Amino acid sequence: MSKNDVPFSFWEKNRSLFQGDVIIIGGGLVGQSVAIALQKKRIKSHQKPLKICIVDKLPTGKSGASTRNAGFACFGSPTEILDDMNQETENKIVARMKNRIAGISLWKNWVSPDIIDWEDHNGYEVFEPQEIKSYEEVLNQLDNLNRMGKLASGEKQIYSKTSQISTNLPYSIKINGEASLNPGKAHNALVEINRSFGTVFFNGIRISGRKNWIKTRNGWTIPSNQGDFKASKVVVATNAWTPELIPGVDITPGRGQIILIKPSQTTIFKGVCHAKKGYLYFRNLNNYLLLGGGRNLFRQEETSLDMCTTANVQTYLESYIKEVLIPKQEYTVINRWSGIMAFSRSGEKSSLIYWEEPNLLIAARMGGMGVALAPKVGEDVAKMILT
Ligand SMILES: Cc1cc2nc3c(=O)[nH]c(=O)nc-3n(C[C@H](O)[C@H](O)[C@H](O)COP(=O)(O)OP(=O)(O)OC[C@H]3O[C@@H](n4cnc5c(N)ncnc54)[C@H](O)[C@@H]3O)c2cc1C
Repeated sequence: MSKNDVPFSFWEKNRSLFQGDVIIIGGGLVGQSVAIALQKKRIKSHQKPLKICIVDKLPTGKSGASTRNAGFACFGSPTEILDDMNQETENKIVARMKNRIAGISLWKNWVSPDIIDWEDHNGYEVFEPQEIKSYEEVLNQLDNLNRMGKLASGEKQIYSKTSQISTNLPYSIKINGEASLNPGKAHNALVEINRSFGTVFFNGIRISGRKNWIKTRNGWTIPSNQGDFKASKVVVATNAWTPELIPGVDITPGRGQIILIKPSQTTIFKGVCHAKKGYLYFRNLNNYLLLGGGRNLFRQEETSLDMCTTANVQTYLESYIKEVLIPKQEYTVINRWSGIMAFSRSGEKSSLIYWEEPNLLIAARMGGMGVALAPKVGEDVAKMILT
């Protein structure tokens, strides 16, 4: 125990902290979106708002991934979709794209774009000279990709060949409709909407595993070391940490690391860029350069819930900066950080949204796409709870 960890008193442990309709465990973009969608649906059907609380083990303004990601509002780069086509049916891939596109349009509906620095500058998948084969395969499949894109979005041409972004990245495919946002502001915007609906927040409280919860006639009593939470329905939106609460659920963590640098010259490209089959991603952030990824090269090390950065991944990211993105240019490192994503152990790419038990719903496993997905997941969960 550190000097700052003051032990809990009997009084602090034995009390009811919340009694209401819904407790949402996990206050990331998914937990926030579930609460918003529930209240919006109640208001639309002229019912009074629900009594909802959101509990997160982290301090206010922090989350496992939602405030630590790259801020891409994206729905599928060409090589990702081509890879998926080797393992999944077209219907499943199109359904997933559709969900991400629906999520992007909900973002625009819920939040004013200027509050969250929303930028409609499209996405790009970029290729190095030695990746020409992969690029040509995408070109060969462009009609097919656009056919699937149309099924998902209604748009005729999502994917198109475009000009190079640099001599080191000479081949590029434009992805119409992808965008970027500021994850910190976006998370905060959702928190503010929830506050306006009267949702209550408890930060710094870690909920223990399902085996300690008590099923009651009216729902659930969930004990914590600061008191009980009582609610008719429980939503577990703890993404990578879900197996700690619900053992056996098919989720494995994947740490994602980011480096933010200030190059000595102005960075001119716009939009969100996907490289190396989506395992690297970068964007211009007000003339800083944000680069993330590299997890695939250090899989064992990066299968972790530890929110730290590592020398292996950060060195790899810096080598991509020096060799590909801005060769022969000086830069200053502004920030390095990581967050934790949730994937399936079996390679399944879709999210987990299901009733684990009566009145206990899981909404987790957002992979690397939770920004686009969160509002849509919120809507889906709200429908399941209210019908
Ligand atoms: C580096 C990085 C870059 C990424 N880039 C993108 C991107 O550009 N675009 C994109 O779409 N997605 C991206 N992602 C993925 C995206 O951030 C996630 O899919 C999304 O944020 C998941 O949201 P969530 O609410 O499910 O999870 P989280 O944000 O992880 O929220 C879950 C919360 O549950 C809380 N919690 C866990 N256990 C407990 C407990 N026992 N008691 C109480 N609280 C608990 C955690 O503290 C956490 O805040 C990226 C992720 C990372 C790490």
